[in-house]
Amino acid sequence: MSASDNGTRKYPCTSCHTNCCKEYTIFVNAHDIYRLTTNLGITPQSFLEIYGAKDFDLGIKVKEGLVDLALKQQSGACMFLVESDDVFRCTVNEFKPGVCKSYPFQIKDGKLTQMDDKMCPVGWDTKEFEAMMAPHLKKDESEWKFYNDLIVEWNAKHWIKKPLDEFLRFIVDRVSLSLKID
Ligand code: SF4
Ligand code: SF4
Repeated sequence: MSASDNGTRKYPCTSCHTNCCKEYTIFVNAHDIYRLTTNLGITPQSFLEIYGAKDFDLGIKVKEGLVDLALKQQSGACMFLVESDDVFRCTVNEFKPGVCKSYPFQIKDGKLTQMDDKMCPVGWDTKEFEAMMAPHLKKDESEWKFYNDLIVEWNAKHWIKKPLDEFLRFIVDRVSLSLKID
């Protein structure tokens, strides 16, 4: 999900005005928040938008309500997207959320495929990206599971008693701890 070109060949992103970064709400997990916070040296509050949770079981129960977390938007696009001379660029490319890295790929029936409804103007060469995307998608799946388990643990202990700021500290600390153990 960003304009990219390895210098030797053109990728679909090169001929695209980063439709995906403008159209989607980018929901993030604990690892995404940890990576952005630690690598950019900014607070989670500075880049997170609070959404009302649609799924009661997975929403985060905090003083502010039942919420989900996504990247903030600015002028109708992700806040990390910048335009210069009609070229759009992700300013957090190295630390961008897992869903951004995955798009438009997915694992379906055990195989790497492209989403049917992808916004990319042209198709990708799935085979060329298999070695890179398959392990990434697996890692992304395990990071979402880690996050969902944290939410379940938090919700069981702190049902609407504590503010979102405290939840954010809780998840960042847990990711930090898990990385030290690994
Ligand atoms: S929509 Fe597809 S081609 Fe366009 S920037 Fe996103 S991933 Fe790249
Ligand atoms: S983080 Fe980067 S790739 Fe993801 S939506 Fe924002 S600008 Fe696009």
